[in-house]
Amino acid sequence: MDVDIKNIAKLFEKFKDQEACKEYLEFKRWGNNIICPHCNQSNPYRTNRGFTCSKKECRKKFTVTSGTIMDKTKIELKKWLAAIFLFTTSKKGHSSVYVANLLGITQKTAWFMLQRIRVMLLSGESPSDLLTGIVEVDETYVGGKYKNKHYSKRKKEAQGRSTKDKIPVVGLMSRGGNVVAFVTEDTSANTLDQIIDNNVSSDAIVVTDGYKGYNHVHKKFNHIRVKQGNCYVVKDGDNEYHTQTIESFWATLKRGYVGIYHYMSRKHLNKYVNEYAYRYNNKDLTVSEIFGKSMSLYSRSRITFKELTKKLTA
Ligand SMILES: [Zn+2]
Repeated sequence: MDVDIKNIAKLFEKFKDQEACKEYLEFKRWGNNIICPHCNQSNPYRTNRGFTCSKKECRKKFTVTSGTIMDKTKIELKKWLAAIFLFTTSKKGHSSVYVANLLGITQKTAWFMLQRIRVMLLSGESPSDLLTGIVEVDETYVGGKYKNKHYSKRKKEAQGRSTKDKIPVVGLMSRGGNVVAFVTEDTSANTLDQIIDNNVSSDAIVVTDGYKGYNHVHKKFNHIRVKQGNCYVVKDGDNEYHTQTIESFWATLKRGYVGIYHYMSRKHLNKYVNEYAYRYNNKDLTVSEIFGKSMSLYSRSRITFKELTKKLTA
């Protein structure tokens, strides 16, 4: 019974009370085979509040939200579903203030919910396959007091390779395919080599700009450098090599940073970067499909409350 949710009005119509939400969450998590999260035993007893494990040695109680991002929540489930819908189907993301106003909750609660949804996106997605074909690799800097800086200074810094209060992010994007991006300590050749080795198929064509950090890439990969300056595209027959697709991903990420989130601390930046990668990688799905997929992640990300808190503060 996967549902077709095209908009927020439809969502509230479909998930009007806790029971309707629980039924859907049960379906997304277990299908027809409800299993105990403590011991994996099937066929638990249904109780007023949830389930009791039918295995003699276990007999533990659990609910459909146990060990998920909604574990022990006091927020109505329909508000959780709405927050997940708003957050994952939006092109640019939403601030906690916006979500708070829309759902009638405090900004602090909304912030906490959005952080949990980000953790869900991080821990739920299976590791992506190696990137193949033409793979654009680029690094950028995000963070610091970006929004307070004068435009000309921002532009100048954005072109530079090292700035004090900014955090390096390395992105890899297969042309016509997925993007993966990582917050890193630095943009040294060692760091870049390692990330490229771990994420790119050996038969791919790696495209970068002229930064010296990419000096070793040619040793393992077919490497094409596009010049900086006025020429950004290298043509070879019908093929055009450039790093403009990953650069446009950075532009979206930074617009989100400046326009919506205003500030990202180093400890949270990885989650934000992943959030934008998730949006980019699912951009061809319909709103309804993205919601369905995101709700499947909820069911897969069975993390304990302790782990979750650890991840939220890590
Ligand atoms: Zn059990």
